[in-house]
Amino acid sequence: MIAPRHDDQPDRMRCIALNSTGGPEVLVPDSRPTPRPGPGDLLIRVRACGVCGHDALARRGELRVGRGTILGHEIAGEVVAVGTDVTAGRELLGRRVALVQRIPCGHCPECMAGLTTLCRQGPGFYGEDVPGGYAEYVLATPRNVVAVPDSIPDAAAAILSCAVGTGLRALQRAETHPGNIVLVTGAGGGVGVHIVELVHHLGATVVALTSNAAKEQTLLELGAAAVLVSPVPRTVRECLHDLGGKRGADVVVELTGSPTFPLALRALAPGAS
Ligand SMILES: [Zn+2]
Ligand SMILES: [Zn+2]
Repeated sequence: MIAPRHDDQPDRMRCIALNSTGGPEVLVPDSRPTPRPGPGDLLIRVRACGVCGHDALARRGELRVGRGTILGHEIAGEVVAVGTDVTAGRELLGRRVALVQRIPCGHCPECMAGLTTLCRQGPGFYGEDVPGGYAEYVLATPRNVVAVPDSIPDAAAAILSCAVGTGLRALQRAETHPGNIVLVTGAGGGVGVHIVELVHHLGATVVALTSNAAKEQTLLELGAAAVLVSPVPRTVRECLHDLGGKRGADVVVELTGSPTFPLALRALAPGAS
C-alpha cells in the first residue's frame, strides 16, 4: 500500500466557480483547498476537462446547482496520490486516466451488477454532487477511472465517458450491427457527432438529423450516408427507404427530446430499438 503523497500538492488549487446564473461571464476564477484523498480515494491532477451541454444548462440556471459550484464532469488527468486502502495504488500512481462522470458506491445492487453509472448511493456526479473538473485537482476512486494509453491525448480522453461512451452504450444496448440503418436525431451535438462516427465504424448506415444546416458537411465527412436538416418530418421515411430501410430504421438514437420524439418514433421499423 502507498500512503497519500499530500506533501507534493499545493494547499490550495485554482478553479473556475459558478458565481451566478447567466452567460459565460458567471464562470469566474477562484481558489479552494486542494482535496485530500481519503483511504479509498485517488487524487487526480486534471489535465483536460470537457465543456458539456449539461454544463451550459447548469450555468444558465436550468439545473439545480448552487452558487460556488465547480462544474465539469468530462475529466482526464493523472493520478498523483492514492489512499491507503487502494490496493491497486502502485499501478495507478502516475497513470493518465479518464474519469467516468459519476463516482459510484461500489456495493449497491446496481454497482454489484456492473451498472455503476446507475448508482445513486455513492458520492455522485461531478459538478453537481461533488466538485467537478474545472479545477486543478479532483477526487476519484478506482471504480471510476480507466487508464488511457499514450496514443489518446488528454482532450480526447476527457470526453470518452460522456460524449463518446453515452452513444456507444446506447448502440450496444440496441444491438446495432453492420448493415443496420440508424437514424440519429440531434446529430450535430457533442454526443451526436460521435454516434455518427461510431455507427459508421460499426459498418451500419447512418441518417443524421440536425437543425443546423452548417453541420451538414461535417456530418457527411464523419460518415453519415445522408443528412436531413429539420424540420423535415415527411422526408425521413423516404430517406430511410432510399437507403434500404424499407420498413424504417433498425435503430433510432433520439438525442433531442420533444422536438423530434414523434418523428423518431414513427421512423422505427417494426421490432426496432
Ligand atoms: Zn457531458
Ligand atoms: Zn452503487
